[in-house]
Amino acid sequence: MADSPRSMDHPHPAPPPRSAERTVLLRRARALGVPADYGRVRGLPPMREPQRLSFIGHDVHGRPQWLAPRAATALRRLLRASAADRVTIDLVSAFRTIEYQLEILERKCARGQSIDEILRVSAAPGYSEHHSGRAVDLTTPGYVPLEEVFEHSPAFAWLQRHAADFGFRMSYPRGNAHGIAHEPWHWCWHAR
Ligand SMILES: [Zn+2]
Repeated sequence: MADSPRSMDHPHPAPPPRSAERTVLLRRARALGVPADYGRVRGLPPMREPQRLSFIGHDVHGRPQWLAPRAATALRRLLRASAADRVTIDLVSAFRTIEYQLEILERKCARGQSIDEILRVSAAPGYSEHHSGRAVDLTTPGYVPLEEVFEHSPAFAWLQRHAADFGFRMSYPRGNAHGIAHEPWHWCWHAR
């Protein structure tokens, strides 16, 4: 992560505002073709945005990122441990609002992708683990972010061995029951 401990002395950027009316946003998602029974059929629980967010540094694109406070603490510990093992793990994305997820869907629809195609790689608004502030997308130098080839990186090998020690699990392994594409970069923190 780009931020050194020193940068903690400086004021952090303000976190993104939480989404407006959840039901309004889900109605807009349904208008795009997201099935009403999406969550049940995919076995994906509805995700709520957290009350509080904790700044975790900047991602590989230089954008500020946040997680729910306990997940943020766990991620900091994980990153310290990986750095001590000389493994570089960079952040691609963390907390995302329901509204932002809806905008992704709308953009893909506007580009002519079918809703089935879109929902194979993107969770429907309201169901992405990123809304909870517990999920992160990770990468490592020398790898294009959000590509399956990440599973062959030393960073991925380290995560497989150690991420669980910090409460992080890979959510979408190959052949997962949710019908979501294999995402070796997506890890979610679970309270123990
Ligand atoms: Zn993700």
